[in-house]
Amino acid sequence: MKLRLYDTYTRSLREFEPLRSDYVGMYACGPTVYDYAHIGNLRTYLFEDFLRRTLEFNGYTVKHVVNITDVGHLTSDADTGEDKMEKGARKAGKTAWEIAEMYTQAFKEDIRRLNIKEPTIWCKATDHIKEQIEFIQCIERKGFTYRTSDGIYFDTSKLKNYGYLARLDIDGLQAGARVDVGEKKSPTDFALWKFSPKDQKRQMEWESPWGIGFPGWHIECSAMSVRYLGEYFDIHCGGEDHINVHHTNEIAQTEACYGTRLANFWLHGHFLQLDAEKMSKSAGEFLRLQSLIDRGYDPLAYRFFCMSAHYRAKLNFTWESLDSAAYSLDRLRNLVYEWGEPGTVHQDWVERFRDEVNDDLNLPRAVALTWELTKSDLSPADKKATILIFDQVLGLSLGDWEPKEEVIPPQVLELVEKRQQARQQRNWPEADALRAKVGELGYEIEDTPQGPKVKRKKG
Ligand SMILES: [Zn+2]
Repeated sequence: MKLRLYDTYTRSLREFEPLRSDYVGMYACGPTVYDYAHIGNLRTYLFEDFLRRTLEFNGYTVKHVVNITDVGHLTSDADTGEDKMEKGARKAGKTAWEIAEMYTQAFKEDIRRLNIKEPTIWCKATDHIKEQIEFIQCIERKGFTYRTSDGIYFDTSKLKNYGYLARLDIDGLQAGARVDVGEKKSPTDFALWKFSPKDQKRQMEWESPWGIGFPGWHIECSAMSVRYLGEYFDIHCGGEDHINVHHTNEIAQTEACYGTRLANFWLHGHFLQLDAEKMSKSAGEFLRLQSLIDRGYDPLAYRFFCMSAHYRAKLNFTWESLDSAAYSLDRLRNLVYEWGEPGTVHQDWVERFRDEVNDDLNLPRAVALTWELTKSDLSPADKKATILIFDQVLGLSLGDWEPKEEVIPPQVLELVEKRQQARQQRNWPEADALRAKVGELGYEIEDTPQGPKVKRKKG
C-alpha cells in the first residue's frame, strides 16, 4: 500500500507524494523552553518520530526541522499576559537565557531517551530575529498589518481564507467576543511584533523598524520554515492544540507573504489524557519523563505505551497501562534476544507491516502484527531478521537490547554453594532441600556442564 496520511487542512486521508524528488521537508513545532516537557507533549514528538521513520521506511530522505521557542510565547494565546520565558526565569531565579538553555538541554535529553531521531535542523527563535523582522516587513508591504500602542498586528479580516485550517467561525467569534480585545480590530488578529514596555527593560529584546521589542510567537515558525524548507513544503505537524491559533496564524502569515498554505500536508497528534480520578493522589504532579524513570520505568516503555493508540485517537494514561506496556516490551525484548543471530528477512511480512504503517501510521496494528510474527512458524533467526526491519519504525532498539546481569542475593548464593557441596557428597535429600529453599526465595537453579546457574523465577 502507498503511504496515506490524514491531512487536517483538507480533513481527508490523502496519498502522500513528495513535492520534490530529493527530500521530504517536514517541520514540527518544538517546545517552548520555559519548563520541562510533560509526557503529554512527548506523545506529540513520538507521533512525529513515527511519521519520520515511516517516511524513511518508504525510502524517502527526510529533512526534519524543529524549532525551539525561546522568546515571545505569551501566557495567553490572545497576545496578552507575560512572556513565558521571562516568567519562568523569574520563578527559577535565573535569566531568561539561562533557563532557555537549561530546558533546551533537558528536552534534547528526553528526546534521546525516547529514541526519537534528532531533527536534521534545530532552530532557535532568538537566532532568527533578522528573518522574523524581514518576514514581518514582507507582510507589511502586502498590506496585512496595523499598529497599536503595544505592537504590530496582523489584520486577519484582510485574508479571505483566514481560519480555514481550523474551520473557524469568524462571524461567531466576532459576535461572541466578550473579552476585551484592547486595541485589536478583531479577536482573531494577532501580534507580529510586540514593543517592550516603556517603563521596563526586558531581558530579551531587539531593535526593529517599529521600535524595541520582541517577535510574536507565530512568526518564528513561518520565518524559519521558509528559511530551511522553502515557501511551500511537504508536511507541517504538531499537537492538536495548535490547530485553532498557532497553525492558523502561521498559515495566515505565509499566505499573506507568499500566497501558499505553507505545507502540502498538515498533521496533528492528539493529546494524552491523564486519568483524573486514578491520578488524583498525585494531583498537581507534573508528569515528565524523569518522573517515570524515577519510578523505575524504562523510557522506551512509555514509547511502547504510546503505540497502543493511533495518533489521532485519545490515549488515556494510567500507571496500570504503563505497567502493562513495560511488561509487554520486556517480553518482546527477551524473545528477540533469545532468537540469537538474525537470519533471512521475510519480505512478505515486511510488506504486511508496511501496509499497516502506511495506513496513516497505524501503530496499534503494526504492533499486533509484530506479536503475530513472534508466534509464526518462521525460524527464530528469520523472525529476528524480520523484526529488526519492523524496528526501523518501532524504534525500540530491539537488536541492541541485552538482559541485565542479574544480581543474586548473597544468601541465595550461599544456599547454592551448600547444595553443590551436598551434591558432591551425593547427599541427594539435602541437595533437594536446599534447592527447595532457593525456590522459596524466588530463584531457580539450572544445572549445566559449566556448573549451576541461578536465575530469578519467571512469572
Ligand atoms: Zn509553530
